[in-house]
Amino acid sequence: MSNMAAKNPLETQVKDVKMIGPRRAEQLARLKLYTVHDLLYHFPREYMDRSQLISPFDRHSGEIVTVLGKVISSQENKTRKKLTITKAVMECTRGVFYAVWFNQFHIKKLLKPGTRLYISGKLNNSFGNHEIQVQDYEIITGDSDSIHAGRIVPVYPSTSGVSQRMLRTFVHAALEQWYLSYREFLPRRLLDKEGLMVLPEALKQVHFPDTRALAEQARRRFIFEELFLFQLQLALLRRNIMRVKKKHSYGVISELINKYIAGLGFSLTAAQSRVVDEIMTDMDSPYPMNRLLQGDVGSGKTVVAVLTLLRAVENGLQGALMAPTEVLAEQHYLSLNRSLSPLGVQVALLSGGMPVKERRALLEQIATGKISIIVGTQALLQGDVEFKKLAVVIIDEQHRFGVRQRASLQEKGVYPDLLIMTATPIPRTLSMTVYGDLDISVIDALPPGRQPVRTYYVAPGELPRVFIFVARQVAEGRQAYVVCPLVEESEKLDLQAAVDLYQQLVEGELRGCRVALLHGRMKRSEKELVMQQFRAGQVDVLVSTTVIEVGVDVPNASVMVIVDADRFGLAQLHQLRGRVGRGGGQAHCILSARLRSREAAERIKAMKASQDGFYLAEKDLQIRGPGDMAGVRQSGMPEFRLANIIRDRDLLRSARRWAMALISKDPELRAGEYHLLRLTLERYNKENSNFYHIG
Ligand code: ADP
Ligand code: MG
Repeated sequence: MSNMAAKNPLETQVKDVKMIGPRRAEQLARLKLYTVHDLLYHFPREYMDRSQLISPFDRHSGEIVTVLGKVISSQENKTRKKLTITKAVMECTRGVFYAVWFNQFHIKKLLKPGTRLYISGKLNNSFGNHEIQVQDYEIITGDSDSIHAGRIVPVYPSTSGVSQRMLRTFVHAALEQWYLSYREFLPRRLLDKEGLMVLPEALKQVHFPDTRALAEQARRRFIFEELFLFQLQLALLRRNIMRVKKKHSYGVISELINKYIAGLGFSLTAAQSRVVDEIMTDMDSPYPMNRLLQGDVGSGKTVVAVLTLLRAVENGLQGALMAPTEVLAEQHYLSLNRSLSPLGVQVALLSGGMPVKERRALLEQIATGKISIIVGTQALLQGDVEFKKLAVVIIDEQHRFGVRQRASLQEKGVYPDLLIMTATPIPRTLSMTVYGDLDISVIDALPPGRQPVRTYYVAPGELPRVFIFVARQVAEGRQAYVVCPLVEESEKLDLQAAVDLYQQLVEGELRGCRVALLHGRMKRSEKELVMQQFRAGQVDVLVSTTVIEVGVDVPNASVMVIVDADRFGLAQLHQLRGRVGRGGGQAHCILSARLRSREAAERIKAMKASQDGFYLAEKDLQIRGPGDMAGVRQSGMPEFRLANIIRDRDLLRSARRWAMALISKDPELRAGEYHLLRLTLERYNKENSNFYHIG
């Protein structure tokens, strides 16, 4: 072995790999490959089987062939369109054929007569000739190991400028020099029980597999490795939170909570009661609550949140409720204030646009404890806000934010009970593993009397008929939403489309109705006014961009029309639909779209098929893949290199079991056999600290 092999691949720059100079290193940096380790953990996206040579003489045009040939002659031509075409006459055991390269300026001088090379590419048989448009080739020089052809070859994720051939060559060189300096860090027993390939071998096989089956085994090892480290991180995180006792405690449940429940006008559903019990038990514990409350749109999470806050209030402590947007914070504030001020509870809204003076006065009241419940956005816990005795923090719809927030609060020595609420439907099958650091409560049933929302699909041309239907509903005393998408890239255009539609409706189908427009560019006070009027029933139809997405609660609204529904994700569509059907009576959701893609069609189909957010989440994952799902990304999962939490859910589960067992047995990984694992985990934590703060 060379000296190089003694060095640590984690600390060795790619430019120290044979053949990689500073310029190449720069190109690799574009793929975020800086060290030898980065390069070796840059796994193939797929493989091409070039182990069997396929002769051009047996195949049809358009097929991919791989052949070993010898150059007879070659020539280079430039076309008027500045295309360089290099053409070689080649021979193989079966006869003569042609190989063609486009814009490969350096190739001509390599194609000396007599040179032997592997060629793979697309076959074009015409005029009795066999011509291969070369996709990949490898010149055989003496005893060199063939890596580009004549075997199963790796295909890497790449960007322009970094060719497959280059990557393959570099990875191969790096492997030869360094693979033996990798030592297995997974515990022996785990490897045996799970039947996982050992690290150095897996590195070789994942890049240059001897067979397809070995490639799969190698990949399985790395998938497990990723999931296992992820689960170890969660298990440790959880343990760290549970280690510090909180500084506050609560008395027995009393007056205030009972009064609030008595004033609700409905009784809690069984699911709500169960969840409240779980929360109260957490609050009684000496360690901070660390709980995720999952519940579909309209399942009644707000009541649960209020009860949690009241537990703090009745013990002379404070609570904070945070929403993702100002509009939602305002709405939470209004509803909290409406139900709590009669009980003598002081609720305040701390909003971004507040005049300095007003803000200062409010901060003063928070600091002295005069205000018990503070509602706001993320800004609430940042900067200059000082609480007298903050005991409960509730975060609506922002999981990742919640996790960070907890970390930064703990740094300040505050250990509140944390409840994160989400309708972002991480499929139930996954929540345990994805939210491995949190306890989970699920409200799994809607309040009684809700009818499923009737869901229809219409082509855009049918919209006028839809609006006539809307007008009829309004005539019957109901209200409606018309939602147009607003995407950041084309915000201006979209906004104009919404304004145009509003004009059209006011002058057309909805002439007799009170129609209002709501969009994100409006002033806060304007938005507030419109929402107020809609809530109060002074506006019949709200034409809106997606600002109403989450949390808006107007029980009398019975119709949701979504224009260009193909531009929304499934989770969003479901959220929007959840805005109607909150009161009695039949509600309707009309999805209008041009179905330009298969995905769009499948989303609409799923919406018609189900009202269950968790089912839809599962579908969403299937349709789009987990990397794309907003909810999953928000959940704070790292981006995996190879793992796919849906496809690999069995591995995920066993990785979790191993991680939990290990951490409960040896939380610091002190045993000698875990030494390498501990080092690996420390590095993993550092690399993924943007997802989770590790205390
Ligand atoms: P979400 O979980 O989406 O935040 P909300 O808390 O906004 O749902 O509740 C949706 C609606 O259901 C509200 O109008 C609320 O008053 C009502 N609600 C909540 N719990 C019950 C219940 N147990 N029985 C009847 N209605 C309920
Ligand atoms: Mg809500």
